[in-house]
This record gives sequence, structure tokens and C-alpha cells, in this order.
Amino acid sequence: TTPFLSVRSLRVRFATEDGTVHAVDDLSLDLHRGRTLGVVGESGSGKSVTGLAVLGLHDPRNTAIEGEILLDGQEMTTAPEPVLEKLRGDKVAMIFQDSLTALSPYYTVGRQIAEPFRKHTGASRRDARLRAVEMLEKVGIPNAALRVDDYPHQFSGGMRQRAMIAMSLVCDPELLIADEPTTALDVTVQAQILDLLGDLQRQSGSSIVLITHDLGVVANAVDDLLVMYAGRVVERGPVREVLREPYHPYTWGLLGSMPRLTSDVEAPLTPIPGTPPSLLAPPPGCPFQPRCAYTSLVGGDRCEAERPEAPAGRGAACHLTAEQRRTVFTEQIRPL
Ligand code: SF4
Ligand code: MG
Repeated sequence: TTPFLSVRSLRVRFATEDGTVHAVDDLSLDLHRGRTLGVVGESGSGKSVTGLAVLGLHDPRNTAIEGEILLDGQEMTTAPEPVLEKLRGDKVAMIFQDSLTALSPYYTVGRQIAEPFRKHTGASRRDARLRAVEMLEKVGIPNAALRVDDYPHQFSGGMRQRAMIAMSLVCDPELLIADEPTTALDVTVQAQILDLLGDLQRQSGSSIVLITHDLGVVANAVDDLLVMYAGRVVERGPVREVLREPYHPYTWGLLGSMPRLTSDVEAPLTPIPGTPPSLLAPPPGCPFQPRCAYTSLVGGDRCEAERPEAPAGRGAACHLTAEQRRTVFTEQIRPL
């Protein structure tokens, strides 16, 4: 079957005062109906930029986009604004990390949920209000019929995040792009919100792109995983396979900085040393090379000189051979 969302060779560049930022380079992905894709990477890896590009929310005055973004057959990169506006809400909606900036402090929560519904369906004020109450119930706000008239500041952080989810889902979008939807919340509320997204997805059959810097967040919440580094896909595959035996040294690093929720003692987090390269002048070779401990295994200056190809299916953008990475992984990363 045709994927609901298909991105081909996406490149996104911004013009800044300092030069051109290569935010996303050669990104391809497919997402089928009812599936969830996790996109994981550090901040500045191109995750959010990709999400915004799918919704056509980039600023055309300083952003250049190449490649294809097909959403249910509609090319998004060249679609005129009125077409995009219709698609946003109906077909695709976004949940942002920060509910305080996404929700206006000046309007009631209910009104902010009802407005997009009215706009897209032409429903009456009364029906839209009923719909807002229904949505607040759906996302688990107690006393929804009363809370619908509250302002965002009267909600807790977790409730605001739920309200934002209600706002995103009010028009039954077929694709939801959730950008760090739980980052600002404590661990318990994070788990509740992810459960909620999963439940709503099972009811509606929608597809989800879950963007996060936290490998722990995606582990139980997604079907497939895409790891991004410096604007590129460095590893991809079914989430279970990637977590069981990740191929890329960067993914090993992410795994090492993942809190072990299952153990009693809190394992120390090992952050990946170093910082991502500047996206103003991407290095010619592997973007992870300055932080990678395994370049000598590859040998010569290959990692520095030659850019490893982005994986098309299960795989990694790395010059290590399958045997080398298996040996390193089993002996050093996850010794038995
Ligand atoms: Fe490390 Fe080389 Fe693989 Fe890049 S290509 S991740 S530098 S071993
Ligand atoms: Mg981001």
C-alpha cells in the first residue's frame, strides 16, 4: 500500500546572518496509516524542522526546501498556502512541546479547541462548544463541562498538554506530528500522555510522528525509529530491532544516556562527549566523526573524508562493517 506520508530526499536550508544553515540533508521516510514513527536526536538535529516542513510551516522568505513531501498524495512543498491551511487540522496537526506558547492566555481553553473545529467544519458555536467538551473528556480532563470555560493558566502543566492534544485532534487529523509532547512534564505524566496518544490512535487509526530527544520516550510508544544527527538520518529500523542491537555509534551514545527505568538503582547517565558539528559548514565526511571513538577501526581518514550513505531500510550511516559493529556492541556497549 502507498504510505500516508512519504518524504523523499528532503533538504532544508535557512539563510542566516552567519551563512546558510543546512538543517536537513537527504532525509527520506515512509509512514503508513495507523503506524507511529519515532524521530530521535539531540536538539538541532533537524527533527523539528522536518516536522514543520511536513506541515508547510517553514518561512518561505528564508527557507529553501528541496525534495518531496507527499501527504496522502498531496505534494506539500509546492502547495499554495490556502491548500496547506485546509490540510492543517483536517489531515495533519501538530502538538508542540510548550503548551504555554501554543495556547493563548487570552481565550478560554474551550474556545481554543472549538475555533479550529468551527473553521474546518462550519459548525455552529453551540456545537463547537459541545465538541470542545467532548474532546476535553476524551483527553481525560475531569469535569470537562465546567473546565471548558477555564483559561490556560487555570490548568496544570499536564492538563494544558492534554488540552493542546484536544486542540490538535479536534478535526480528526489523519497524521499527528508530536514534537517533544512530554518533555516539560514529570515522568508519570509523560507516561500518561503517551498512553493517551496511543489510545486515541487506536480509536482513530491515525498515524503519528513522535519527535523526541529521549530514546526512553519512544521505546514503548513507536513502531519504527529514525535516528537523526546533524540534519541527517544516521540509523533507522523497527524500534525493537534498533533497541536490541543498534548499529550506529551515535545510537550507542543515546542508549548510554537513557535512564534505566527498570532497575532499582538509578544507573549513572553517560552523556555523549562533545557537541554536534556546525550546520553552517557541514564536514565532508561523517558528521559524527569528531565525537566518534571508532574511527580507527574504520581506518585511514575514511570517516573524515567520506560521507557514509544514509540507510534506506534497517541500517546505519556508518563505515563500520557489520562484523565490526557487532563485535564492538557486544563487547563494549552491552557486554553480557
Ligand atoms: Fe564513527 Fe566512522 Fe561510523 Fe562515523 S562512519 S560513526 S566516524 S565509525
Ligand atoms: Mg526541537
